[in-house]
Amino acid sequence: SAHQDEAEPAYRASEPARPASGTETEAFQQAILAKLTYDVGTDPAHATDHDWFTATALAVRDRAMDRWMVSKGRNQAGDKQVCYFSLEFLIGRLLSDTLNNLRLTDCARDALAGLGVDLDRIRAIEPDAALGNGGLGRLAACFMESMASLEVPAYGYGIRYEHGLFRQELRDGWQQELPEDWLIRENPWEFERSDLVYRVTFGGFVEEFPASGRPTRFAWKPAETVQAVAFDTPVVGWRGRHVNTLRLWSARAAEPLRLDAFNSGDHVGALADRARAEAISRVLYPGDETEAGRELRLRQEFFFTSASLQDLLARHTRLHGDLHTLPDHAAIQLNDTHPALAVAELMRLLVDERHLAWDDAWAIATRTLNYTNHTLMPEALERWPVSLMEQLLPRHLQIIYHINWLHLEPLIRRSADIELIKAVSVIDESQGRYVRMGHLAFIGAHKVNGVSALHTDLMRQTVFRDLNALYPGRIVNKTNGITFRRWLHQANPQLTQLLTQELGEAVLDDPGALIKLERLADDSAFQDRFRSQRSASKISLAKLVADRTGVQIDPSALFDIHIKRIHEYKRQLLNILEVVALYDAIRSEPGRHWVPRVKIFAGKAAASYHRAKLIIKLANDVAKIVNSDPVVAGRLKVVFLPNYNVSLAETIIPAADLSEQISTAGMEASGTGNMKLALNGALTIGTLDGANIEIRECVGEENIFIFGMTAEEVETYRKAGLHRDRAGWSARFENAISLISAGAFSPDDPHRFDSLIHALSSDDTFMVAGDFDSYWATQRRVDELWQEPSAWSRASVLNTARVGWFSADRTIREYADDIWKVPV
Ligand code: PLP
Repeated sequence: SAHQDEAEPAYRASEPARPASGTETEAFQQAILAKLTYDVGTDPAHATDHDWFTATALAVRDRAMDRWMVSKGRNQAGDKQVCYFSLEFLIGRLLSDTLNNLRLTDCARDALAGLGVDLDRIRAIEPDAALGNGGLGRLAACFMESMASLEVPAYGYGIRYEHGLFRQELRDGWQQELPEDWLIRENPWEFERSDLVYRVTFGGFVEEFPASGRPTRFAWKPAETVQAVAFDTPVVGWRGRHVNTLRLWSARAAEPLRLDAFNSGDHVGALADRARAEAISRVLYPGDETEAGRELRLRQEFFFTSASLQDLLARHTRLHGDLHTLPDHAAIQLNDTHPALAVAELMRLLVDERHLAWDDAWAIATRTLNYTNHTLMPEALERWPVSLMEQLLPRHLQIIYHINWLHLEPLIRRSADIELIKAVSVIDESQGRYVRMGHLAFIGAHKVNGVSALHTDLMRQTVFRDLNALYPGRIVNKTNGITFRRWLHQANPQLTQLLTQELGEAVLDDPGALIKLERLADDSAFQDRFRSQRSASKISLAKLVADRTGVQIDPSALFDIHIKRIHEYKRQLLNILEVVALYDAIRSEPGRHWVPRVKIFAGKAAASYHRAKLIIKLANDVAKIVNSDPVVAGRLKVVFLPNYNVSLAETIIPAADLSEQISTAGMEASGTGNMKLALNGALTIGTLDGANIEIRECVGEENIFIFGMTAEEVETYRKAGLHRDRAGWSARFENAISLISAGAFSPDDPHRFDSLIHALSSDDTFMVAGDFDSYWATQRRVDELWQEPSAWSRASVLNTARVGWFSADRTIREYADDIWKVPV
């Protein structure tokens, strides 16, 4: 469709169309023009940038179709398939990634240039597919790309949210959430499968047979039916060798409207059922502060889990017949507990609908399902009120009770300690009655994995200690990884070009080849090239910062980057307090030499997380004062870039000198931003948390800045009550706090941050005070190294050289070998 309201057409008649050279380019140009005419319905003289984007995307997509069909054929041949169930896929844009994987970037650039169109400009038109909140959803997207690249037959299953993660705007430094509308125009990547529809049901009651005596058969009589319609997106692997499917479900009402109500004049009421059904796939992460919001979230979880399992069983039955062989042909990975209802739903489908015996069904389910845990923080462990589950999914609650009974019965029989029984029960009865989704997933899974070595150890010691004792060997570690195709080759073409010049094209295929860069780490000519490549990225970021915030930053300053969700455990507050202390120190000694630094923050806070939103306001208030103070000009700048998303990450990461990975030890399960930044040559300042520990092992401790308490020390500190005691605060920390309390950054409202400060003094759960001095001192070590450009560059090169292990390809190979048992 031609959007007349779009800016001016990208093509101007005055620019002569230059015939593309080379037959491949010519053919591609013809393909784009054909799409423009026959699919978009316009011509070059009238096409907007968006029209060109659509035509190009469709032409690129065509190039993946034959491979997709071949891959599907292979997937059907009886090979075992991985089914990755995830409520989130934080994909970002697909044009660059697809072009890159098909090795068509240059061809597309030339073909478009011949038509007077700039590839980079139309690339920026594509909206981010932001069907996720952060690390967990981005991991799912990296895994999908990596599985396609390794030719692992796989389906991703999730929800096609009409509105992805909210768009963040800042008004006077406060976060505002606005709806995101990536589907407002057609999505050129997806195929609607209007005939691929499953019924997903809710509510009602359970009929038991025989009606008297001990029931042997159960039938769920649901009250409500929603349809799940499949939308497929091809996931193109590296060099286009293999193409998998991302299948996202969209909710549709069984009846489009109540015609009688409509005809009697109730035009809105006639659509009420439809609105209720379609609400399921309307938005990612509905607010869960209300009962209605929480119910919608549970409906989403069951909706996509049920549709995906029905699809899987239908395919298996079609190809293989006998359901007993399901574990030989499918491995399901549950990405966190959001799809944990799969344990109960798979049992219901096998026992109630396919009439298998319970024990057979249980053997099938527990050989097929696997579960990835992403957090140990008690408030983030998913649990659902029994009452809500009973109302929405009565049969599933029965099944969960039965699973729990079979799980607890041996303990009861051997008169195990009641505390142990309470701890391992799927039902939490300590305050009200809740279903513990982590326990359900654990009990129903073949393997349960953590996402970094430390996180997996802590899983065994804390939340799953007792379950681990009952099911020894079930917990395994799979340290997260990232796809280098997106996060190095595509996001950082400057560095990639340097790498291929030095190491050859093989480095694109084998992340392990990066290690050969080690020998160049001390080569000053190479260091110069490494620096100039980085400087180009920093200039681009400086331009973006100026465009989006109006703040001018000096590309030669140290770019200190803190980008991720805003959360107390991720400790943006610790960073801001260091900014305040540094600002004050510079003002006290303006004559001293200070290393010029730019502190860059970006990230979204959950809409209902008031304290995180106040931290965003603090960062912005501090930025305003610091950036307008002539005393610190040229030494310190603070920037908060709005609307952090995958595309913004791709621009920021290649320009980062310092990567802030400063979570309270024991709280960040893995992190993946840490890997992306190190790969692109940033040095990390971080705690011994999540995958930082493994990054340190890879890069060497002299090439990373580690500070603060370890997870164990945090525990000891907490047990001693030191986090409630401000007696231990250093003068520097006291001073930073008192500047904020005195309104130095909020003269219009001096008490604005009282609640933040009060929390630090009374219960410093996240050890901001406890780690501050160590953080400050380590930042000064960063300053020292920065003043030796050659030593800094050496460390930077060694970071890129030594983090090949964090390729998602390595992670996927480990899942394939240890968990899924599929060949790679
Ligand atoms: N959000 C976005 C948009 C990302 O690109 C990433 C990782 O790159 C994350 C969140 C996760 O970041 P972290 O691991 O630092 O929490």
